[in-house]
Amino acid sequence: MSTRTATCDCCGFTEECTPAYIAAVRAEYLGRWVCGLCAEAVRDEVRRGAGITTAEALDRQRAFARAARRAPGRAAVDLVAAVSRVLRRRLESPPASPAQGRRKAAASGTGCGTDAEDA
Ligand SMILES: [Zn+2]
Repeated sequence: MSTRTATCDCCGFTEECTPAYIAAVRAEYLGRWVCGLCAEAVRDEVRRGAGITTAEALDRQRAFARAARRAPGRAAVDLVAAVSRVLRRRLESPPASPAQGRRKAAASGTGCGTDAEDA
């Protein structure tokens, strides 16, 4: 199976993916490819029920990711907090969508610091 390098539209993270996976992500996110982390954040944002669309959530995540890249030190902390928040919520509620083919992310979801969320 061949893979291609996909670049996240939000944070610029690159990942080796199968063309089928890339197409599936693009289909779900308005033609944009986003990495697993940003996809989670966007999905979470939409699911939160604040009435925002996927497009708005994508823009929000993108702005967040861009800002994060401009201030690396602080961003790392924010990112850890954001990720742990998403993962924690994921453990509380079963995923709404079927298999995402990203099992390793779920498998490493525990074991993070416990005090990352001190906003
Ligand atoms: Zn990303």
